[in-house]
Amino acid sequence: MRLLITGGAGFLGSHLCDRFLAEGHQVVVMDNLITGSTANIEHLAGDDDFRFVKQDVTEYLYVEGTVDAILHFASPASPIDYLELPIQTLKVGALGTHKTLGLARQKQALYFLASTSEVYGDPLVHPQREDYWGNVNPIGPRGVYDEAKRYAEAMTMAYHRYHGLDTRIARIFNTYGPRMRLEDGRVVPNFIAQALRHEPLTVYGDGSQTRSFCYVSDMIEGIYRLLSSDEVEPVNIGNPQEMSIIDFANLVNEITDNSAGLVFEPLPEDDPRVRRPDISKAREVLDWQPAVSLEEGLRTTISWFEERLTTGRPDNEGAG
Ligand code: UDP
Repeated sequence: MRLLITGGAGFLGSHLCDRFLAEGHQVVVMDNLITGSTANIEHLAGDDDFRFVKQDVTEYLYVEGTVDAILHFASPASPIDYLELPIQTLKVGALGTHKTLGLARQKQALYFLASTSEVYGDPLVHPQREDYWGNVNPIGPRGVYDEAKRYAEAMTMAYHRYHGLDTRIARIFNTYGPRMRLEDGRVVPNFIAQALRHEPLTVYGDGSQTRSFCYVSDMIEGIYRLLSSDEVEPVNIGNPQEMSIIDFANLVNEITDNSAGLVFEPLPEDDPRVRRPDISKAREVLDWQPAVSLEEGLRTTISWFEERLTTGRPDNEGAG
């Protein structure tokens, strides 16, 4: 297959490139590098099956030759990023989805949308099943991401129903691993960077809010299986092991031997109180479930960040 991966220079996108190239496919990446970085794909330069195009996918898209599948992964994905880039976040979820769907239709390509657990907002149903419609504040600071992704799902289903396009929608829950930006503001890189610098970890609110963290290799496997399946309706992909942020902070301090403790900072507006995927559907339809424990995944991620910090190698920050 020849695949187009938007956001392919980002965290998940670049791991997808590795996976599809390893399976013998050809990959074209489109990324405007506002949160992605060429550092994530520099090891692929020179591979004849790989191409990088610096492009904003909210603009007119042209790709020469056949395209068998389009994976739309371009978007700021950290709450800090979408606070700083609210219009770009809305545009890539809305216009970017429309443009990539249009291209998929023209190329008669399979279409895969990277959606998110944020479509459930601050959920009133717990754990979250795919048939829950969510509790989203459209005008809050997170609304730019949540509503863009909800629109993206609606648009994808419309192309499926109206144009008969073959589509997939993954609702991706908190994922972590190597290639996250050290300064992207999300809890995993924040805590690891703070712990490695022997600083106290910044717990927002009282830390009783929960998240469920999925290691990147499990996520990529889930995405790969969903693409290969024929499931058109959204599927949750994530790790159902849920924990409070304060327990998570203590775990990171324990693994890194950080004795600096915790500091408490205000809880960001509309921060979901709880989040945990119900993955019954993924188990049944994709025969998939996470295999990497939190402790194992964290150790690998910590070593990766440690190497970045100690070698003083420029971090894989985005250009913007
Ligand atoms: N959080 C925290 N300290 C940090 C960064 C995040 O306590 O330094 C909390 C945040 O308030 C949220 C959770 O960790 O409850 C996960 O935040 P993240 O930004 O990773 O993504 P989210 O799951 O909210 O999209």
